[in-house]
Amino acid sequence: MTLSLPLDNSYARLPQRFFTPQVPTPVSRPSLIALNEDLARDLGLDPGALASPDGVAALAGNTVPDGARPLAQVYAGHQFGGWVPQLGDGRAVLLGEIAAGDARYDLQLKGSGPTPYSRRGDGRAWLGPVLREYLVSEAMHALGIPTTRALAAVSTGDVVRRERPLPGAVLSRVARSHIRVGTFQYFAARGDAEAVQVLSDHVIARHYPDARDAWDLLDAVIDAQADLVARWMGVGFIHGVMNTDNMSVAGETIDYGPCAFMDAYHPDRVFSSIDQFGRYAYARQPDIAAWNLAQLASSLLPILGEERTAIERATAMIHTFPARFGDRWLAVFRGKLGLTEAEDGDADLIGSLLDRMAGDGADFTLTFRGLFDGTARAQFTAPEAFDQWEEVWNARREREKADDDTQRALMRRSNPAIIPRNHRIEAVIAAALESDFAPFHAMHAALKAPHDAHPDFVAPPEASQVVTATFCGT
Ligand code: AMP
Ligand code: MG
Repeated sequence: MTLSLPLDNSYARLPQRFFTPQVPTPVSRPSLIALNEDLARDLGLDPGALASPDGVAALAGNTVPDGARPLAQVYAGHQFGGWVPQLGDGRAVLLGEIAAGDARYDLQLKGSGPTPYSRRGDGRAWLGPVLREYLVSEAMHALGIPTTRALAAVSTGDVVRRERPLPGAVLSRVARSHIRVGTFQYFAARGDAEAVQVLSDHVIARHYPDARDAWDLLDAVIDAQADLVARWMGVGFIHGVMNTDNMSVAGETIDYGPCAFMDAYHPDRVFSSIDQFGRYAYARQPDIAAWNLAQLASSLLPILGEERTAIERATAMIHTFPARFGDRWLAVFRGKLGLTEAEDGDADLIGSLLDRMAGDGADFTLTFRGLFDGTARAQFTAPEAFDQWEEVWNARREREKADDDTQRALMRRSNPAIIPRNHRIEAVIAAALESDFAPFHAMHAALKAPHDAHPDFVAPPEASQVVTATFCGT
C-alpha cells in the first residue's frame, strides 16, 4: 500500500511558471539508513509507517505518497557573485507541505533523480553528502540555530558516478520552505512583476504574517539573516556556498554542501574546495549576507512603488544590516563570555580574544567552552596571550550585577562542548562506505546534546586528521 501523508500543496497551487510537476525517479534497492523519529513525531507523522517497506519506498522516491503533488521549484541566483539566470531543483522534488502547529513544513526528497533543471547533473546524491547534511543540520538544530532538518536517509542500491563510483542515497529534508533569494531573482530578472507580487504574498502569508507589504517582508528577512549569521559566527560555522540560491527567505540555514565548523580559529578560514578566492570565508559571511539581501531588495523593486524613491529607501534599509548584525553578534558573544549586561568596550574585549586565538591557532569551540570549565588557557601554545586577556575579562566580570553562578550558567549554554567536527564526519562517511553505520548513529546521538561534554566527541583533530577542504555536495 502506498504511504499516505497529511500533505497540503500550497506551492503547487501557485502559477505554473513557479515549478515543473516532477515525480521522483525510482531506485533499485531502497534501504533505510536513518529515520529521525523525534522529528517525525513533531511533524505528526508515524515513525512506524515511515520505517515500513511502504514508507521506505516513498522516502526513496519509488512511490509517490498519497497526498503529494511532487514538483521541482525553479529559481535563479548569483553563484560566487556571477549571475545564473536559471537554476532550480536539479536533484530534488518537493512532495508537499505538512502542517504542524501554526507552521507548515516542506517535505523534500534530495537526490531523487533528474528534473528539467538538472543541467548536466544526474539528479542524484551519494552517501557522503547525505550523511554530512543529516549530521550537520541536526547538530545545528540541537544548537538552537534555525535550519532545515533531516527526516530520513535511505540508500538506493544504485551507483552514483563522481570521481569514482559511489553508493547513492536520498535525503528527506524538512524546511519552513525552500524559497530562496534566488526564487525572487528568477522572476524579477524576467520582468515578471506579477510573479514577484504573488511570491511576496505567499512568503508573507507563510513566514511573516505580521508583514503588511513587501517592505515589511524585506525588513523581516534582513532581521532573520542578521540573527542567523550572528549565530553561525558564534559556533564557528562556515556555510561555504552563500550563493543567493542557497539563502532561505525563511531565515534557515539551508544547503549544507562544503560547509564546516572550524577547529583552529582563523577569520579567513575557508573550507570549500571551490571557493578559490575566499569569498565565503568565516569573517566575510556578514558582508555576503548583506550583498545577498541587496539582491533580494533589487528583486522586490518592481513591487516597491515609484522606482527612484524605492531605490533610495531600499538602499537605506540594506545599510541597516551591519548595525543589526552587530547587535546580534554582540549578544551572541557576550553570552559566550558570560556577560549579561552591555558595556561599551565589549566588542573590543571579544575582538581581542578572537585576535589572540587567531594568532595562536587556538581551537574555536574548546577555547570558548574553556571559559566555562577553566581550560581555555590550555588551548594556547603561548598562554601568556590568554593570561593578559583574562585579566581584562575578569575585571569586566567583576562589574556585572549577575553573580558568578549566573555568568557560568550562561557560558555553559552559550558554548557547546561538541560540534560536528570535520574529521569525525569524514570517519563516519568512510565507515558508511564499508556498510558500517554505527559511527554515524553514535555521532548523531552525541550531537543531540551539544552542551554535554561527551568524551568521545570533544577532541579536535590530530595534525594528521585535519580536514582542510570539503567538497561540494553533489
Ligand atoms: P548547489 O551548489 O548544491 O546549491 O546546487 C546548485 C544547482 O545545481 C542547483 O540548481 C542544484 O539543483 C543543481 N545540482 C547540484 N547537484 C546536482 C546533481 N547531481 N544533479 C543535478 N543538478 C544538480
Ligand atoms: Mg543550492
